[in-house]
Amino acid sequence: MAPSGSRSIKRGCQRVLYWIPVLFIALIVAWSYYAYVLQLCIESIEDTGEKVVYLLVYHVIFIMFVWAYWQTIFTKPMNPLKEFHLSHSDKELLEREDRGESQQEILRRIAKDLPIYTRTNSGAIRFCDRCQLLKPDRCHHCSVCDKCILKMDHHCPWVNNCVGFANYKFFMLFLLYSLLYCLFITATDLQYFIKFWTNGLPDTQAKFHILFLFFSASMFSVSLASLFIYHCWLVCKNRSTLEAVRSPVFRHGTDKNGFSLGFSKNFRQVFGDEVKYWPIPVFSSLGDGCSFPTCLVNLDPEQPSSPTGSNPANKSAAEGRQFPSKPLRESQSRLLTSTPSWSENETLLDDKTAALYQSLEPLIFRGMFDFFSSH
Ligand SMILES: [Zn+2]
Ligand SMILES: [Zn+2]
Repeated sequence: MAPSGSRSIKRGCQRVLYWIPVLFIALIVAWSYYAYVLQLCIESIEDTGEKVVYLLVYHVIFIMFVWAYWQTIFTKPMNPLKEFHLSHSDKELLEREDRGESQQEILRRIAKDLPIYTRTNSGAIRFCDRCQLLKPDRCHHCSVCDKCILKMDHHCPWVNNCVGFANYKFFMLFLLYSLLYCLFITATDLQYFIKFWTNGLPDTQAKFHILFLFFSASMFSVSLASLFIYHCWLVCKNRSTLEAVRSPVFRHGTDKNGFSLGFSKNFRQVFGDEVKYWPIPVFSSLGDGCSFPTCLVNLDPEQPSSPTGSNPANKSAAEGRQFPSKPLRESQSRLLTSTPSWSENETLLDDKTAALYQSLEPLIFRGMFDFFSSH
């Protein structure tokens, strides 16, 4: 009783500690609101027109930023559907076998009815011992959340949540609006920052808020811009951060572009089909998070020919299968059908640009993600 009690106390303490980075960000945002609205706009800016315009634009960006941040933090990550969990009899069967190869045989049999195309490095079926399930493509076990997370990108300490299929769009918008927030503050605070050094500001405490506002907003702008550009590149390439570090392995081998369908389709997979939802932090990503269209489906002879039923000849066979119990949305199915305007080479970033970006990509992010992400 005692060990499990102390373990739960330890877990409880850890859960509280995980909120510290979020609290830190919240305090900085609260201070920046006070410094910008009260100290800069109301106390220091004399021109009424300038004051009103700054306050209006500031509040629009502020609301979008806080909304996206809130959604990233409080959207529960999605876990694999029950079809991927082992049944009671399969669990017993697996426990009875002590040889790895026989266990793989059982897992392969179960995987046949599921749209699973990726494997481990050694070619085995990806199985999570802890959750007792076959991992859907792009799904990874997060050791912080202690769960398998669909299309896991990374575990982000700044939002105390896993960034994955359920909230990746919110995370992108959070990066976008926080960057806009910092850039707007930097740009509008600049002339008052210059006045600070030329003794053009009245000698009140507002001048120190103006000074620190400029320093902090410009510093955050630089780091947010690098992170945002990196994630834009990932969206264009249809890769998660984990997949950028380690390419997914398919039956025919490793393929870093295994899930890429071309820029437009890749973008729509995250942001959805309807343009009006793109800038708003409401869920509009395509698919169910358990299966992803891949152009490599037909290279895998052991699997259903297409989870999306793109080939009309296979459509009826695919519909007859047990999976997916929840049919893939029509919007996702469309991702594999060939529409001329969505061709692969439409606006795809060329490999030279990608290689250049990778060489410039700050090493700190790689290190940070390696540290915080587990799979
Ligand atoms: Zn797991
Ligand atoms: Zn996590």
